[in-house]
Amino acid sequence: MPSTSPKPPRAPASISAAAGCASASSAPSPGARYGLSEILGPGVASECLAARAGLHGWEDHFLFETIDPESGAAVPPGASGELVITTLTKEALPLLRYRTRDITRLETAPCVCGRTHLRIMRVTGRNDDMLIIRGVNVYPSQIEAVLVGFPAIAPHYQLVIERQGALDHLTIEVEALAAAGDEAQRNLGEAVRNHVKSLIGVTCAVAIKAPGGIPRSEGKAVRIRDLRKR
Ligand SMILES: [Zn+2]
Repeated sequence: MPSTSPKPPRAPASISAAAGCASASSAPSPGARYGLSEILGPGVASECLAARAGLHGWEDHFLFETIDPESGAAVPPGASGELVITTLTKEALPLLRYRTRDITRLETAPCVCGRTHLRIMRVTGRNDDMLIIRGVNVYPSQIEAVLVGFPAIAPHYQLVIERQGALDHLTIEVEALAAAGDEAQRNLGEAVRNHVKSLIGVTCAVAIKAPGGIPRSEGKAVRIRDLRKR
């Protein structure tokens, strides 16, 4: 579980901007989704196309609350707070009152589409370290944890996030510890890609750089290059 403390919100993080679907190739654009890799990926809440007014949270599977991030006290529906999720039907790895670090409001009035599930409104702030890629919350520490499992990779990496059409694309740039042939590099990249997909739930590309190929920075390493428009 991430141990970072909440930070002041930066630029509004639009969950609709995180919308995307691997097979979306034609209009209309898909509705926004909300999910966390810790829970089950992008299936926690979805926007209806009829209203596009908040994301319907699947209350038959999750209990949604909003709390004051400082005191932990519940805030009333409609008030801004940190979204907290409890899984109701997830087996083997249930989560109780999981703090998402996302600041949002819960709307309990029925939607014009007829659904009565509460709606998760726009996320207006979030933990600075967290990335939202195709609707899934991803922490760089999760990716780092996968990378350290590969002894052929040096402890230097960068996450490059770009927007291509409506989709977010994540490329993990890693550095080979020693020069390797093309086929060995391809196999290594494929193995990293598969591990990230199965353990974190996010699809990515992996670029293997030659030894020394990842820029070194003074002080705190620059791990993220987010090239998406905000
Ligand atoms: Zn609706």
